Amino acid sequence: KFITFEGGEGAGKSTQVRRLVARLEARGVEVVATREPGGSPGAEAIRALVLTGSADRWSPVTETLLMYGARRDHIERTIVPALERGAWVVCDRFADSTRAYQGGAGGVAPDLIAALENHVLAEVRPDLTLVFDLPVEVGLARAEAHAEASGHAETRFESKGVDFHERLRAAFREIAAVEPDRCVLVKAADTIEGVEAAVWTAVAARLP
Ligand code: C5P
Repeated sequence: KFITFEGGEGAGKSTQVRRLVARLEARGVEVVATREPGGSPGAEAIRALVLTGSADRWSPVTETLLMYGARRDHIERTIVPALERGAWVVCDRFADSTRAYQGGAGGVAPDLIAALENHVLAEVRPDLTLVFDLPVEVGLARAEAHAEASGHAETRFESKGVDFHERLRAAFREIAAVEPDRCVLVKAADTIEGVEAAVWTAVAARLP
């Protein structure tokens, strides 16, 4: 099984990835927990290129191509080998983040992104995607508190306007709406335990 977590800033994905992985492992499932951009040595090198420097270092189209370069390496070196040996893959962000960040919020043409998905992902598609949704102001406040606590002076999301984050949220909600078989919209403003329960309900429905 291939499960992805998606959503905007401050949604709490990484906490919930850790909790889901622990629950699955407790049931004896072999899990590979990974993330994007990154998840393989080459893709982590591309992550560093994309996420450091000023937010306008790369144009949205260039960013899309870098994300897809990283994604292809991650798929080839990490995701496919894990799935082939029967492990579950739980990934913090995947292709929907490109649709939402570079596409819906960044303005990159949907047909370019669709073409990249068709060629680069091919048959490697998530079985389940948890789309974390919360009001933009709640997410940004959480993300700012987190950045402060971890000592990051200026982070990438803070340089984008609130309108960018509103477009991002709308794009993620749209993905969940048009692909209801794959996606579950999760109310991420709930408590950590509440979100954990919602995630587990969605995953348990798909357990063998
Ligand atoms: O997963 P996390 O929220 O930590 O993502 C790290 C950063 O990568 C985010 O702040 C986001 O702005 C950025 N990102 C992006 N485009 C993507 C995926 C992530 O700009 N397609």
